[in-house]
Amino acid sequence: MHKNLKQVGAVTFGRGALGQLDAILADNRQATAPMVFLVDHVFHDRPDFVARIPVRGRDRIYFVDVTHEPKTGDVDSLRDRIRAELGKVSGLVGIGGGSTMDLAKAVALMLTNPGSSQDYQGWDLVQVPGVYKAGVPTLSGTGAEVSRTAVLIGPTKKLGLNSDYTPFDQVVLDPDLLAGVPERQRFFTGMDCYIHNVESLQGRAMNAFARAHAEKSLELCRQLFLEKDRWDGDSDEKLMMASWLGGMSIAYSQVGAAHAMSYGLGYVLGTHHGEGNCIAMRVLEEFYPDGVRDFRRMADKAGVEIAEGITAGLPAAKLDKMIEVSLGMAPLWQNVLGGDWKRQMTPERLRALYQRL
Ligand code: NAD
Ligand code: ZN
Repeated sequence: MHKNLKQVGAVTFGRGALGQLDAILADNRQATAPMVFLVDHVFHDRPDFVARIPVRGRDRIYFVDVTHEPKTGDVDSLRDRIRAELGKVSGLVGIGGGSTMDLAKAVALMLTNPGSSQDYQGWDLVQVPGVYKAGVPTLSGTGAEVSRTAVLIGPTKKLGLNSDYTPFDQVVLDPDLLAGVPERQRFFTGMDCYIHNVESLQGRAMNAFARAHAEKSLELCRQLFLEKDRWDGDSDEKLMMASWLGGMSIAYSQVGAAHAMSYGLGYVLGTHHGEGNCIAMRVLEEFYPDGVRDFRRMADKAGVEIAEGITAGLPAAKLDKMIEVSLGMAPLWQNVLGGDWKRQMTPERLRALYQRL
């Protein structure tokens, strides 16, 4: 059966597009029910930015601390707080990077679905649409703005709420919002996008629909991270579109080995997604020879050192857990190695890869 891809409901793109958010939200407000804005804490001290958020009536801004990537417990407590403080809401708007956008998607779902968000970590477990949700990226690369997942760290695993109800109803792409991203962060999140393309293009789930998106996204990543000497006027626009297209590619195919290993690193060591992908990518030349070669050149060009020796001295139980989380990503390993991936990617083989990090 061919995948029937649920996509973002509406998208607006261009410099200054944030200014249209008020009018967009006006069409989606229900009587007096307020709109909730989940905003990356980095903007807490930016009153100029906060003043541009279209707060009306009983609307509320919650600044979210994304020092650590979102956990199922964060989602549940935000949901409980919003219910207690505001009652019924018109919707949620996530303004920030992948972490904030995923929080917004997950909380919007958990305002209508019973239980804890950890019950929905997996594929197609969410059964009820959430409240209206909009995403406004301020950091580009993850593709979280376009994807059908909201990645969360739960008590036993790091895994997304993958469902047809997860994509945003609305996305506002405003390249001006990327202006203040520190270069190192831009590199790691940008490499997430690059690696989405490498992994999807090399994977068994590849097809013409996904390839069309991945090839263009890869071309943009190569321009930005290999060819250009300086980050200039239109670089943020290109990165924003590379992120969108890379996200579209993996939505209609699958990611691969760097992501599968990064999930294990994220769960056990708290390594952030983009950085974890980069750390894993260094040892994956057997799967992605060209992709790894160019990745190394990109890191050198950006002057970013990728951490080494991070699993040295790790207690055996933690390494075992890392392997368990990573091998739990069956669709990813299947994309890399095919239907008999379990025979090929044994715990011992994966342990040897982790030990090289
Ligand atoms: P992030 O959202 O975790 O943010 C990283 C840092 O950048 C934070 O300190 C944040 O405050 C800061 N930041 C954000 N915007 C900024 C701006 N404009 N100026 C200055 N600083 C800014 O980083 P990310 O790489 O975008 O997202 C990673 C998260 O996304 C992980 O939790 C990962 O699991 C998730 N993810 C989700 C998907 C998906 O499809 N849903 C895909 C890939 C990754
Ligand atoms: Zn990713």
